[in-house]
Amino acid sequence: MSSSSCLFCRIVAREAPAEILHETEHVLAFRDIRPGAPVHILLIPKEHVTDIRELEDRHAGMVLDLMRAAAHLARTEKVDESGWRLVTNIGPDARQSVFHLHFHLLGGRPMGWPPG
Ligand code: AMP
Repeated sequence: MSSSSCLFCRIVAREAPAEILHETEHVLAFRDIRPGAPVHILLIPKEHVTDIRELEDRHAGMVLDLMRAAAHLARTEKVDESGWRLVTNIGPDARQSVFHLHFHLLGGRPMGWPPG
């Protein structure tokens, strides 16, 4: 998919609006537009990757960057002590709706398991 037709690529390019909270060499983090919890942040690679099935060895630095950004944001959003969840949805059963890899950081309320 070209960057012009992918919403999250357009957010990376600052062509679509988003409340950006954190940025690293490989990763961008912004608030979800329809929050499912008091803290609901999306972490995405700047490079277009559809989902984790497309990850290659060369993405190792990006994946580490993304995980460390999530841990950083959990601290700055003050959910580190209460607990938080990091989730990626893949395919129809998981209800993936945006086809650019993203991890949901959710926190600020008790959550059920397994997800409904
Ligand atoms: P998923 O269903 O796992 O693919 O998650 C996609 C997420 O992107 C949903 O939680 C949406 O609310 C969120 N979303 C869609 N458009 C935007 C946007 N323009 N800015 C921020 N979040 C968005």
